[in-house]
Order: sequence, then C-alpha cells, then structure tokens
Amino acid sequence: MTIHFSQRGNRWDSLLFPIEDNRFELTLQFRIRLVRIEPTTQYNDTNTYAKGDGNLQYADGHRTIKLEPWNDLEWEMYKREFKNVLERNWGERFVLTANKAWYTPRPGSAPVNPIIKCSLAIQVVDFVDQQPHFMFRCIHFHPASYPDHFRSYASTYYGLGLITHEDVKIVWGPQRTVNPNGIIFGQIPVIHEFGHILGFDHINGDGNDESAYGVTIDQQNNVMGMGYSFADKQAEPWERAMNRHLVRENRYDQSVKFTGHVDGPQITAYWDDNWVSASDPAPASVPIDDAVQGLAGVTWKHMTNLPNR
Ligand SMILES: [Zn+2]
Repeated sequence: MTIHFSQRGNRWDSLLFPIEDNRFELTLQFRIRLVRIEPTTQYNDTNTYAKGDGNLQYADGHRTIKLEPWNDLEWEMYKREFKNVLERNWGERFVLTANKAWYTPRPGSAPVNPIIKCSLAIQVVDFVDQQPHFMFRCIHFHPASYPDHFRSYASTYYGLGLITHEDVKIVWGPQRTVNPNGIIFGQIPVIHEFGHILGFDHINGDGNDESAYGVTIDQQNNVMGMGYSFADKQAEPWERAMNRHLVRENRYDQSVKFTGHVDGPQITAYWDDNWVSASDPAPASVPIDDAVQGLAGVTWKHMTNLPNR
C-alpha cells in the first residue's frame, strides 16, 4: 500500500498523516469565502438578491428581509466562530477503522490497523483569487423582519450559500415543523449547512419538505434533520477521501475496507412538551429529568426550562 499524504480537489483538499504507529489523522481542508453583506450591497444569486436598498429579496418575490449593517468587531468574531464551530463539530466527531491491518510503520515490522482520526480544517478567506472551495454570503438581518419561513441555504451545485449572523449559535426549532412528539430541537445552522457542502441531503430525502427533515425523532435529531447529533454514515466524506489517499497494489490491499463511526458520546439538548410518548427512544418509565441513552450513542437530556426561541 502506498500512501499519498496530500490530495487536492475541487470540493476540498485533504491531508493524511501518521501521528504515531497506531494513529493517523485525516484532515479535510476547506477554503471558504465569507462575504459581508451590508444594507448597501448589491448581488444576485439563484435564490436571493439585494439591490442595495437595505433589503434582501427572495427570487420568488414573496419574501423580504430588512438588513442591518455588520459591526467590524462582530464580523471578525463571526468569521472566527464560523471556523471554530465547524472544526469542533464536524471535525472531532468520527474515526475510521479498517477491516484488517494495512499499514507497515517501518520496514520489516508487522502491519497494523491504525485508528484514523477524522479532522476538519477551515480557512476563511476574503477574496476570490484565494480560490475558495465554497462561498457564503452573510447577512445581518433586522430582528423585526425575520420571517418564520426564512431558511439559510447552501448549494453545492453553485458552490454558494447564504447564512445569517445568528447561524453560528444554537437556534431552537430552526425548522418550524409540527412535531407530533412536541419536541423542539436545538441546532447550530452552519453545522447543518456545512453538511450540504460535504455532500449530504436532508436526513429523510432531498428537498425542503417537512418530512425531509425527518419523520422519526432519531432522524429529526440528526444534524441533517433539525437537531445536533451525528450518525456513523456521516463519516462518508472521510471514507471516500481515505480511499483516494491509498494506492492499492495487490489483492490484499484491494480487500482493505474502511468504515467510519461516531467517536464518543453525543449530548442533545431538547425540549419536550409532552414527555410520555411510546415512540420516543426513551422508555416512558424513565423519570423526567434523567439523562437517557438514545440511539447511535446519543445522550438525551431533558431540559427543565423552555429555551428562548
Ligand atoms: Zn438543509
């Protein structure tokens, strides 16, 4: 097996590096351009546009959002937080392991099956000549004009998206789906939007129908639904990247297969208006304030106060 340590791609670059004999780090590297949209900014994309008159318009003509200027300090903090939130969440979530030993640390030593830590590195860039992999326009909306049905978006096809000044913080009930279980999920919207950049559709299908964000609690709780938890299959971009880093030279090499899984517990905070529910992953007999173990290693923690939203 020959290893390429560095790969370049249209959608992202990646780096595979041994940390020690039994440990590798695989880092997906993104250059993301953040564009500061002011009330005076003019632009036009497929979903939204602005004429510089202080408003953001949806291309469908039905929605207008009043913009506020960004403050310089707030903008610098926002760019830093954007990077931190993504690196800490998508980047410290998964490990890959192979079905058999594949790596020989030094000539003559026995092959090993190292743990591969899946990391993410975001470089925020300001200019198009820095060859960004993706571009987000960033708006600061006027609180009074924020419509319920507004959604940030990211289009991998166009390589661009739109996010708001609130999207690096946790938002309660980002999708106002009528939830028969009375549960409101917390989500940091940029983590969800970045999932689209990694190539994921919504958890229960393409599109923006309510059902696409999940029909079961476990789906809704996922980061590609309306929640904040990750599933093993969301390590897939690292699995694919890993395969590009290796040159398989013989039949044994061909039979090495990598699978990703969530590494460590996840905590999900949520609000439940009517806790006793047979379809809930928590057994109904569990007392209200106990943390219970849900699916996929997710710890569900019932909250005692309704979050602001
Ligand atoms: Zn989405």
